Amino acid sequence: MIVTNERGYPTMSKVAEYLQEHILGEVSTNPAVLKALSTDASVLEITPEMAVYPRVTNDIRKVARFVYQLAEKGHVMPLTARGNGTDETGAALGKGISLILPAHMNQILEFDSKQKLIRLQPGANAKSVNDALSLHGMSIPSLPVSAAYSTIGGAVLNNASGPLSGRYGDMGEWVHQLEVVLANGDVLQTERISKRDLNKKKGMQTFEGEIYRSLDNLIEDNRQLIEQKLVSDIRDNVGYSAIAKVKQRDGSFDLTPLIVGSQGTLGVVSELILKAQFTSTQQTAVFITFANKEAARDALDSLAELSPAVLEYFDGVLFTEAEKQGRTYSFYNAASGTFDAGILVGFDDFSDRARQHKVKKLKKMLINIDAQITVEDGQEATALFAAREVTAYLLSPAGKDVSAPPLFDGAYVPSARFEDFQIAVTTLAEKHHVTLPLHVRALDGTVYTRPILQLQKVGDKQKIFKLLDEYTAIVERHGGHLIAEAGEGRVKARFAYKDLDDDVLELFAAVKEIFDPNAILNPGVKQTTELRQLVSELRAGYDTAAFADHVLHS
Ligand SMILES: Cc1cc2nc3c(=O)[nH]c(=O)nc-3n(C[C@H](O)[C@H](O)[C@H](O)COP(=O)(O)OP(=O)(O)OC[C@H]3O[C@@H](n4cnc5c(N)ncnc54)[C@H](O)[C@@H]3O)c2cc1C
Repeated sequence: MIVTNERGYPTMSKVAEYLQEHILGEVSTNPAVLKALSTDASVLEITPEMAVYPRVTNDIRKVARFVYQLAEKGHVMPLTARGNGTDETGAALGKGISLILPAHMNQILEFDSKQKLIRLQPGANAKSVNDALSLHGMSIPSLPVSAAYSTIGGAVLNNASGPLSGRYGDMGEWVHQLEVVLANGDVLQTERISKRDLNKKKGMQTFEGEIYRSLDNLIEDNRQLIEQKLVSDIRDNVGYSAIAKVKQRDGSFDLTPLIVGSQGTLGVVSELILKAQFTSTQQTAVFITFANKEAARDALDSLAELSPAVLEYFDGVLFTEAEKQGRTYSFYNAASGTFDAGILVGFDDFSDRARQHKVKKLKKMLINIDAQITVEDGQEATALFAAREVTAYLLSPAGKDVSAPPLFDGAYVPSARFEDFQIAVTTLAEKHHVTLPLHVRALDGTVYTRPILQLQKVGDKQKIFKLLDEYTAIVERHGGHLIAEAGEGRVKARFAYKDLDDDVLELFAAVKEIFDPNAILNPGVKQTTELRQLVSELRAGYDTAAFADHVLHS
């Protein structure tokens, strides 16, 4: 029997006690614990009322069933799944219950080397998964830069992408099957099913059956809208765009793409089966410094023709910031002084000859250009690839009380518009008296930039959303979109949805309603929020030092 307050709802400590009695994991309402869970890598702060550390899928089911029943009685207690809380958009934050997966549910359960499939719990550390696979010469090539300090579940639920994604796609491409705890506590296994099996599923008198029935109807009713506005070869993680991948022309049906990238808003993933591939351990890295940005930009298209695994562009000012903090790279000698832009190229062909052949072609391509080329293989290549982490120096910039919140990471801009885009971003930066150095994953047009701000100052705090608004407009004006990497979460939803048509937004809302009719799962994530509310949730200060530390030492 649960004790209730004067309005008939259970008091928090009673909820905690009740859940603790019923699950194998732990429950905490300790203020220090809740404070630690009130932030992720975003600029927001939202304190949960309770932390739950599930040990088994059944724990998650019991918690979900409890909050579902509470919601049926009119009291919504949000349930937010959390990996390592490195999300940059506030998606790992929520009031109510913070469900922390990595504490116990962090095991690698099984590996099938023949099928190249690995079965895991969601809280497994993402880099450890690749470390384990490397013993078999394999990897999941799309892990994010943050793999060393984030979970595999977080990577999948954010549809993360990483340095190799220009060539190997996003995390979604490496997901085979998911086990999902639904909003009411039922469990569903995703997989591609035939038209015949879909009809069987639709006949089930359960929540799972209801999901298949409603979603299939939704897709059929919106077929034209989906084909015209959501089918695209270019990655767009906004809302539930992945609905376009659920039903194929042959009538087969798979919920997996929809759960991938859903940021915990459609269900809690309790187990995953991911695909892996053989990976070359021999790599060649090339760093090219350019005297001017134009020459660097112009070189990108021809360099892409060499089929590199890595092709990244950096504004030279990023290296100036690193140098201020004492960091130098081997290619500084070749560049003899400062440079306006740099390009990192990586080849991962299995054959040594193939890599050397590509390097030769690369040198030939740039023979008449004012550029300095440094080439490294083996261990030295690893050191050169570390140049990618130059952006981490922005996470903890030199200077007192300054920080560079990752507000704009992961937009898409088509390469043909990159030059104009770069000019527009420079104008935006000048207008707001900030610097916005660009880092671009050129193979798929993913763009990163972080403004250096003093968030203790009211003026700089006010700049956050102004900048985001104007930056979004620039991205869209140049044929791009804001949410190419990870999700929009809380911080970016308002801005990313501004240019979406009403019928698309209605479709997204209908998807959410099907999976989460009582709005329990991560409410406020992948939903438009009033600016006033976002401002009220801003952290007093912003400090990414911990993440910078991880990046620089992982
Ligand atoms: C320095 C830095 C670099 C980064 N680099 C990249 C990058 O290269 N590419 C990239 O895509 N992102 C990047 N990120 C963002 C983030 O680190 C990644 O997306 C990462 O994969 C998130 O993992 P996590 O364990 O921290 O997840 P969290 O932040 O805890 O959660 C992320 C989202 O997934 C949901 N979630 C987590 N686990 C589950 C589950 N089991 N079931 C349901 N929902 C769940 C959460 O509710 C939340 O919405 C970076 C962040 C930082 C700070």
